[in-house]
Amino acid sequence: MKSFSDQASDMDFLTPGSDAQDIADQLRQIVSPDQTRIVMREWSQSAAFNHLGLPAKYVLQQNIQNYQDISLAARYRLYEKVGFISPILMFSAPGPGMAAFAVSGLGTEQQQDAFFSRFQETLGWSCFAMTEPEQGSDAGAMETRASPVRNGYLISGRKMFIGNGMIADTGVVFARTAPGPLGINAFIFNPQVAEISRYALELNGLKGTNLAHIEFNDVFIPEENMLGRHLKPTERFAKSAIATFDALRPCVGALALGVARRALHEWQSHLQLTVSQSAWLSQTERRWLAVYHHALRSCQQTDDKQPPDSHPGMVKTSCVILADEIISWLIHDTPAGNMPLLNKLWQAFRDVKAFEYTEGTRQIHRLNQGFSRRQRMSTCL
Ligand SMILES: Cc1cc2nc3c(=O)[nH]c(=O)nc-3n(C[C@H](O)[C@H](O)[C@H](O)COP(=O)(O)OP(=O)(O)OC[C@H]3O[C@@H](n4cnc5c(N)ncnc54)[C@H](O)[C@@H]3O)c2cc1C
Repeated sequence: MKSFSDQASDMDFLTPGSDAQDIADQLRQIVSPDQTRIVMREWSQSAAFNHLGLPAKYVLQQNIQNYQDISLAARYRLYEKVGFISPILMFSAPGPGMAAFAVSGLGTEQQQDAFFSRFQETLGWSCFAMTEPEQGSDAGAMETRASPVRNGYLISGRKMFIGNGMIADTGVVFARTAPGPLGINAFIFNPQVAEISRYALELNGLKGTNLAHIEFNDVFIPEENMLGRHLKPTERFAKSAIATFDALRPCVGALALGVARRALHEWQSHLQLTVSQSAWLSQTERRWLAVYHHALRSCQQTDDKQPPDSHPGMVKTSCVILADEIISWLIHDTPAGNMPLLNKLWQAFRDVKAFEYTEGTRQIHRLNQGFSRRQRMSTCL
């Protein structure tokens, strides 16, 4: 019987490389964050991923896979493919990452030149520091402060769950310059300065990924590193954090779907399926494809500058719920003694749980969707 992995619609599209699985397996084993750089440098696709999200004008090497400046729909498809191999490749990859959205949305030409040019020829790692240990990702309650001083700001506070935070050479940090929602600003910063302490977090899901707790102790940021000074305060947060999350939430969903597709593939190749298992599989494949294409459509609508049919947070949520359900079912269905398969499925289970948190949990997305519906209704009335 044909494996579900062969039925993916994107066989001809962007290949993460024949060495990708080996690199991902090595990442799972690393014991210190610096090893991420060493392992990732060996990956045949690291230069291509270093350019993912790089605006086209900064790309010097044209002989690598064309990941720079790709559409959201293409990014979504790429994430699903990478998720099938291992989502930690995406979390550990070099490149401008999430910070690219904030810098291209808010940065002046000079700021963009300074930030993006570092990725032109050498591998670089970046981070996006928003979530806090006490307040989580509730930006309205953000406690990290940026206090004005001569020629710049002093940043003080703590950030949590920061992807690539241990190894990043650059990044964007969000901090409060004044009380209230309009007082939140974004700054380009250097995570390697002495006034910053970084601690690696122990992980169960996505093991091998670098997530950091970062402490800012009066870190001086020059005025020219504040993003969006040329924009109205009302435009700044919307153009940076909200735009980043809206774009990337379906992509996180794609990673979850990739993990689920891989789990299905492993299950199918380890077992002789019964008639009822085969029936379950074909029904599940149809559900998977429906969710995959629904999320892809939402990305295409965003690319076409149309309001997407579905809230990006709910798109991620539906992908994660399905992936979680599929993997849980496979674990229950697998005979207890089949450890090679169960080990793979349990790893998928732990990884998918992390996606529930990445870029917002389902309850928050449900609330956001509910409130935005209510707003739309009251506008109509
Ligand atoms: C792998 C990974 C990578 C990450 N990378 C980054 C990064 O690079 N940069 C960054 O800034 N952050 C990052 N994060 C953090 C992530 O964005 C947040 O953890 C996520 O947004 C969830 O926010 P929270 O921790 O505040 O949890 P909460 O939103 O507080 O949720 C905690 C729990 O409470 C429930 N809950 C909360 N409020 C309500 C309510 N009103 N009603 C009902 N239930 C509620 C939620 O459903 C959930 O179960 C990462 C997280 C992970 C797991």
